[in-house]
Amino acid sequence: MHEFSTAVGVVETITDVAKEHKATRIKKVELVVGEFSMLNNEQLKFAFEIAAEGTLAEKAELIIESQKGEIDCKNCGFKGPVETQKKDVDHFVVDLVNIFECPKCKSNNTKISGGRDVYVKNIEVELGTK
Ligand SMILES: [Zn+2]
Repeated sequence: MHEFSTAVGVVETITDVAKEHKATRIKKVELVVGEFSMLNNEQLKFAFEIAAEGTLAEKAELIIESQKGEIDCKNCGFKGPVETQKKDVDHFVVDLVNIFECPKCKSNNTKISGGRDVYVKNIEVELGTK
């Protein structure tokens, strides 16, 4: 349930921000999800709905923007996005092994340099009438 813990974290973050701004309701959330975060967008949406229940974020619209994964090649110095062939890897392994092949020199001596994070890009709130 990687998605669920992520969703709970997102809800906590946005409700804190909303409270700071004295918002009464969160209408929309824009989330950037890195390709290497290994999160399933559909499951994340579902988890978000559950996590948001009873909070300011209840029934908020969740927009998910995907961010391409990027690697650094230690062999030829290539830095940039890679095409993942939807390798069926456990997400816990991603940090530990070099699983991505450099698109330039085909080396496996690579390091993930981007697209591993999930972050809230923007939220839209409804403010109180006062
Ligand atoms: Zn390379």
